[in-house]
Amino acid sequence: MKRGELLYKGKAKSVYLSDKPGSLLMEFRDDITAFDGGKRDALESKGAYNCCVSSFFFKMLERGGIKTHCLGKINRNTLLVQSLEMIPIEVIVRNRAAGSVIKNFSFEEGQLFEPPIIVLDLKDDSRHDPMLNDDLIFALKLLTRSELEQIRGIALRINQILSEYLATCGIILVDFKMEFGRNRGELILGDELSMDSMRLWDAKTNQSMDKDVYRFNKGNVIATYKAVAQKITRDQCEG
Ligand code: 5GP
Repeated sequence: MKRGELLYKGKAKSVYLSDKPGSLLMEFRDDITAFDGGKRDALESKGAYNCCVSSFFFKMLERGGIKTHCLGKINRNTLLVQSLEMIPIEVIVRNRAAGSVIKNFSFEEGQLFEPPIIVLDLKDDSRHDPMLNDDLIFALKLLTRSELEQIRGIALRINQILSEYLATCGIILVDFKMEFGRNRGELILGDELSMDSMRLWDAKTNQSMDKDVYRFNKGNVIATYKAVAQKITRDQCEG
């Protein structure tokens, strides 16, 4: 598989043209950032661990009937993905209160949300990803009514599949972020599902096993990413 022109460089991933029509190469770099890029570092093998976990989850979701953009893993830090028309919305599912939801509202950290809460944020770093509501989504022409309904349903189903699996690994899925795109009008899960985009807590100790370790200097980031990647994939991830 030949890597073509660089199409997009985000804070932690780069997207290249591939030699397969309709498909792109998504490279997970070792860069790690937090607070809208205010904190940044590069950690060896971080890209490989995130790539491996994302690929593992995409395969699991496909088996569960969810359409994802992932077509396969090309090397340790690259996925071949379907080219999508990306929707600039961060779809966040919250099973427990943590992060911005406890900063902005009077929830106790760790408080259980039953049913889970879905939050939709505009993906726009320059505006600090403001929270949307249905009317704003329609006024901004981001989604149709039917797409919004579909995304809510798919997000909850993904949450169920991931939460149930992670529970078997001794991990609580506190919250996670997804991005969707369209291919011929159909909604497809894009982007990544990794330690960068999820809050994962050890079910016994409630210790963070995700990017919060980096955000809040809670310990050795790469050792945490390695340990959680091995736990999730039953030792299929190499650095
Ligand atoms: P919060 O709104 O509490 O900051 O984030 C909720 C969840 O979504 C967390 O799991 C967090 O990692 C993820 N998330 C929110 N915004 C972003 C983002 O811009 N990039 C990534 N990779 N994940 C995000």
